[in-house]
Amino acid sequence: MLDNREILEKTEMKRTVWDVVDYVNWLFSKALDRNASDIHIEPTEHFLLVRFRQDWDFVIVDKIDKDNISPIITRLKVLSRVKIDENKKPQDWKIIYNYEKEWKNIDIRVSTLPTSYWEKVVMRILKPDATLTSIDKLWFIDSNLEKVREALKSSYWIILVAWPTWSWKSTTLFWVLKNYNPLEYNISTLEDPVEYQIDYVNQSQVRPDIWFTFATWLRSLVRQDPDIIMVWEIRDKETATLSVEAALTWHLVLSTIHTNSATATVQRLINMGVETFLLSSAMRMVISQRLVKKICTHCKKEKVVPEHILKIVKEQLYPIMDKSEVDSLVFYEWEWCEKCNNTWYKWRMWVHEVLIMEPYMEEMIIREASANEMTEEAKKHWMITILQDALIKSALWETTIEESLKLI
Ligand SMILES: [Zn+2]
Repeated sequence: MLDNREILEKTEMKRTVWDVVDYVNWLFSKALDRNASDIHIEPTEHFLLVRFRQDWDFVIVDKIDKDNISPIITRLKVLSRVKIDENKKPQDWKIIYNYEKEWKNIDIRVSTLPTSYWEKVVMRILKPDATLTSIDKLWFIDSNLEKVREALKSSYWIILVAWPTWSWKSTTLFWVLKNYNPLEYNISTLEDPVEYQIDYVNQSQVRPDIWFTFATWLRSLVRQDPDIIMVWEIRDKETATLSVEAALTWHLVLSTIHTNSATATVQRLINMGVETFLLSSAMRMVISQRLVKKICTHCKKEKVVPEHILKIVKEQLYPIMDKSEVDSLVFYEWEWCEKCNNTWYKWRMWVHEVLIMEPYMEEMIIREASANEMTEEAKKHWMITILQDALIKSALWETTIEESLKLI
């Protein structure tokens, strides 16, 4: 299989694009046909590199003469009616593209950033239905899904989704939000940026330039009679404290924080300076999630697992599964096939860690136990770790052992 560098070297450079209007349309429809999430047009020293982010990997689409950049950007600006002559500053705008194949309008968010050669263009395709509805259960295993559903019933507690970069936190947040009918609750969100409009949800966008921040928004929101509050991200003590206070005054607060595990999220909030006695009573659940590659169902083949790897798998799974069941597990690996579309895998999926607040954890928060100690104790209380979850999914032939072990 060729890697991207080899593909790029073999790709012939087009001197001119045949017609800029056609070319831009062709790019959009090709990206949508392939279900790509982003279109990148990157100026390099000798040419423009056109790539799609597709199934989470970059796929090279085209290599064209760099003289084409200016007409392409002008065309994009015309489509969205923004200033054509501005190219020294980063710009963001939106295009509405009519995707004829599916008879619908697709929002495309365009961002340009000056680089040493010219402006680099990144276009994010916003397909609301793909993101909000087609992901069944978000790949929660049954026992975790049950915990999440139970926690969501007991509203008025704070819920956090830990997210290392690129783990699609907004999908999880909106998935949680979709459990509530906006006509029965007053739902307010502050997002950065607002990507998907949801009917009857009061969505606002952060504007630090005019002092419209998470903290100022949260303070004003108290007077807006909210039931459910979604804070895009907790980055500082002030936002953390205000979120905890909102949760303690009977609001369901949903938010995200940048950490690597469920217990690290608790630690992070303690380190930010949130009072432990408030935190222990406000928090209800932490969902931590990471992405792994999903195995291609068309070319998977049974894997002979080496003894030393099998030892790790058993160590992880014995405490949560029947021993004889673990011993009889079968794992798979992939082979290259046409269906994987040169990416070896078809899609990505999540693995999770769901930490439910119980008296033992409240006690540990108050005495500020370490994250490791919290994890060990949580495991005794049936928390399935991210690694265990990934290995379970490997045994269910959804991902592979190799992918799981990358999480260590
Ligand atoms: Zn395949």
